[in-house]
Amino acid sequence: MATVTQGSLFDAVDDPTPADTQTLETLRAAAADCRACDLWERATQTVFGEGAAEAELLFVGEQPGDQEDLAGRPFVGPAGRLFDEALAEAQIDRSRAYVTNMVKHFKWEPRGKRRIHQKPNLAEVAACRPWLEAELAVVRPRVLVCLGATAAQGLLGPGFRVTRERGRPVDSHLAPVVIATVHPSSILRAADEEARRVEYDAFVADLRTVAAQLA
Ligand code: SF4
Repeated sequence: MATVTQGSLFDAVDDPTPADTQTLETLRAAAADCRACDLWERATQTVFGEGAAEAELLFVGEQPGDQEDLAGRPFVGPAGRLFDEALAEAQIDRSRAYVTNMVKHFKWEPRGKRRIHQKPNLAEVAACRPWLEAELAVVRPRVLVCLGATAAQGLLGPGFRVTRERGRPVDSHLAPVVIATVHPSSILRAADEEARRVEYDAFVADLRTVAAQLA
């Protein structure tokens, strides 16, 4: 497989008929060799999106975490387990959704033996955005959900504030319905158990709004 450079990546995404000529499998294979920013160097592998090409619902998070980087799958670590729990409570079947991230490689810094998450910068988000645009072109979801500020600001603009606009549809050309909410990892970082419960309940309420859009 040839290395994907920034140029070839944009050529692929600028294909005038991407949904007809590209599949999630061909995109995933191409993204495995992406070198469009520096994040691939310290990560284990590209973590591409996962789910059905015909999914009506598409979730976008920030980037893979430590466990996702090792497993090569999105949302399988602690935040992913909380996400699954909240989806079940909102009666959303994850197997019928497509789940992906704004940035496909794990950005981290060492702290002792641990790899600590680092927020991707604007240049990294911009470099990786064509992969998400290609996923959107194939899946064409009816409902797009941004999980957290990186996804929401990356897709809806730098002025978008999740805290102010979460849980309700916002105007966007990206999908018929676009909703933003928090990233499940933010719930895990809550100060104490009571705060965690409050934030978790608010997250489930946002997901129930998402479920209502699918009904
Ligand atoms: S983070 Fe995205 S743009 Fe950067 S190397 Fe990985 S797949 Fe390519």
